[in-house]
Amino acid sequence: MIQTAIGKDIAKARALLERGLLVAIPTETVYGLAANALDPDAALHIFEVKGRPKFDPLIVHGADRERVAEFVQSFPEWAKTLSDKFWPGPLTLVLPKRQIIPDIVTSGLDTVAVRVPLNPLTHELLSQLEFPLAAPSANPFGYVSPTSPQHVMDQLGGKISYILNGGECSVGIESTIVTELEGKIHILRLGGLSVEEIESVIGPVTLNAEPTDTGHSPGSLKHHYATKTPLLHGSIDINNLDSTTTGILSFQTRYAEIPLEHQVVLSPEGDLRKASKYLFAAMRHLDSLGLKVLLAEAFPNVGLGRAINDRLSRAATRLSGTTIEG
Ligand code: AMP
Ligand code: MG
Repeated sequence: MIQTAIGKDIAKARALLERGLLVAIPTETVYGLAANALDPDAALHIFEVKGRPKFDPLIVHGADRERVAEFVQSFPEWAKTLSDKFWPGPLTLVLPKRQIIPDIVTSGLDTVAVRVPLNPLTHELLSQLEFPLAAPSANPFGYVSPTSPQHVMDQLGGKISYILNGGECSVGIESTIVTELEGKIHILRLGGLSVEEIESVIGPVTLNAEPTDTGHSPGSLKHHYATKTPLLHGSIDINNLDSTTTGILSFQTRYAEIPLEHQVVLSPEGDLRKASKYLFAAMRHLDSLGLKVLLAEAFPNVGLGRAINDRLSRAATRLSGTTIEG
């Protein structure tokens, strides 16, 4: 067991990373489990600590576009346009990689996922380092992603020595992943930047973010982001519930039949940004109550609601009649 500390000491984080060790870092999306992306041994350590399968490639983070550009073959026009508008921010671009990025980071693919995150501490850290950081979410593979230093401590305490404390994540859901395939722009994963925002800048895109069972489309596994308590996602039918053992995750509605302490209403005023910011914290909280089942509403399929539905449907235990339309 390693002693795990939480703090704001950038020099300490930097020293650990320079020695090839792991540090949890804050970003606007979720906390990342970071290591030197140019050091295959350091990157391998990420997979081991998370229990992440090696076919699931990592995102490489840099301080700004100039630095990130050193790791890709080129920045096509569409990637320039999107990064000009949305970096730093919850947008990841998948581009042909340069050789300097080790195969372990990209799971052997000839493309690399790159991003410039928005968080002052992490930005300062990345600016001081002479290498980029590979960083998946700082949680055991398959579980809900962490959006606070305490979430990281709860699950990786004893396994890493330092968690850089950047407070609560402001977006709270992973980045939107975009690439070009056969001349068209595709969304590979829904996330903290909405499809509508992307389309407002580059026109219509193809949604290619369907979960698969095989994992061939890397990281888009059907079952992921999951609570330990079985979770159902869809329309909620209050009549057939055992109100004492059921938890509810809703957008705006409070359910009078269910004890208040077993419910989280993410945004009574109907703000999808707020809902996504607190989604994972709410899932963790409900998961900690020792209930038999969690019911999560289907969110409106617009803006960040799509990414919320994506995460909830992957978290869901699949039973017939519980999936949602659209
Ligand atoms: P995360 O688990 O949030 O770090 O996200 C990493 C995800 O980015 C992976 O699960 C993949 O879905 C995606 N990804 C990373 N690198 C690539 C790549 N080269 N091509 C396609 N998707 C990628
Ligand atoms: Mg993850």
